[in-house]
Amino acid sequence: MRHVYECPNCRVIGDPRITRADAVSDRTAHRDRAHHGLAPSGLGHGPADSIQAVPGMLGQLARGAFADLAAAGQRRQHAKARAASAANARAERLATIAFFAVLVVVLVVITR
Ligand SMILES: [Zn+2]
Repeated sequence: MRHVYECPNCRVIGDPRITRADAVSDRTAHRDRAHHGLAPSGLGHGPADSIQAVPGMLGQLARGAFADLAAAGQRRQHAKARAASAANARAERLATIAFFAVLVVVLVVITR
């Protein structure tokens, strides 16, 4: 996990830092230089500055792997749903055929 300081008012972004404290130091230095030690306002001048957590390389790989797994799971669920839907349609057809077969048998028995 990396931490990045960003000041949208000045359209600048700091280098990714290993610790949040380092990103806070970037924020302090930027506020001192560019904003006379004050915090840039988010009111009427765009969003305020912020420190954002950015996943590191392993985090991005893990996130990508989980996204792939989730997509594969969704594809599997869609395939299962389609298979279940096809099975339901087949069962309905069989039930309809069985119903009419029984109806025909009953009519034949009754009309004798
Ligand atoms: Zn700024």
